[in-house]
Amino acid sequence: MKKEPILYVVVPCYNEEEVLEETTKQLKVKMESLINKKEISAKSKVMYVNDGSKDKTWEIIKKINKKEKLFTGVTLSRNRGHQNALLGGLMTAKNYADIVISMDADLQDDINAMDEMIKKYKEGNEIVYGVRSARKKDTFFKRVTAEGFYKFMKFLGVDCVYNHADYRLTSKVVLDEFEKFKEVNLFLRGMFPLVGYKSDVVYYERNERFAGESKYPLKKMLNFAWDGITSFSVKPLRFICILGFVILFISIAIMLYSLIMKLIGQTIAGWTFLSISIWFIGGLQMISIGIIGEYVGKMYSETKARPRFIISENLEEKK
Ligand code: UDP
Ligand code: MG
Repeated sequence: MKKEPILYVVVPCYNEEEVLEETTKQLKVKMESLINKKEISAKSKVMYVNDGSKDKTWEIIKKINKKEKLFTGVTLSRNRGHQNALLGGLMTAKNYADIVISMDADLQDDINAMDEMIKKYKEGNEIVYGVRSARKKDTFFKRVTAEGFYKFMKFLGVDCVYNHADYRLTSKVVLDEFEKFKEVNLFLRGMFPLVGYKSDVVYYERNERFAGESKYPLKKMLNFAWDGITSFSVKPLRFICILGFVILFISIAIMLYSLIMKLIGQTIAGWTFLSISIWFIGGLQMISIGIIGEYVGKMYSETKARPRFIISENLEEKK
């Protein structure tokens, strides 16, 4: 761990022409103060990642880069979405940096939390997660759905940091290991805990977007949440199997009920046979689908080919 690490701040930008100037102004002050306090190296930079914007975002980034040596940028060949853009930025920045902090272009995540993130890194943490302490400024709908989502993920057994989005510090060591995760359906906030290493959290209050509109409309948000669930848990497949057993149990009850009804003569011809068959076959089919699901789930985790272990220290190499 270096006393004055080179920090790269990675900021994905999609149609953010309205916010870039203000963001640059605020980040410049922050970076300069961190450099002056000798918290970070003078080689530190902010790296904007243009995610195939349709407006002037890339032109503005190039202009800022010419004017300020503290700011640099990369552009994707087309729009690939926030998570891919962020990954592209992280993987590029790690070639130049010791630590990387990712944040949104609209500065909804308090940039003053960076000081504490760097402090926690210097205390020996390789990942520092930014966690929203309060969501006072979020709409009621956003707050309820977002918090419900994190709880649901936990219920599904996913190791996710509660109320953490993509505001986090990662060291180069972590990013080098992260590169081994080859999956294409990205849910970065769920993947970093898988890398392991010592980590900590920093709390901050989330602000409102100061200009421009959210680039995450409801449809994208739902898609993202769905990706998070299906990329991290095969439990939904297991539920099918459980449901099958429940239905099979019900079919036993129905069988008894139908037979009693038949014995007291309260039925019409063929009813007993039909009602028992429907429930029994239904349960059997559900279980069969569930069993196939179990194998699909296994295949799914095999194809993702996530690393099975990461060695963080090897005493043999330290001799
Ligand atoms: N973003 C991106 N590509 C996209 C959509 C969004 O790079 O296709 C960026 C966007 O520029 C911003 C960040 O992702 O820096 C988060 O988006 P936004 O602030 O609109 O989301 P919200 O805070 O409303 O969830
Ligand atoms: Mg935002």
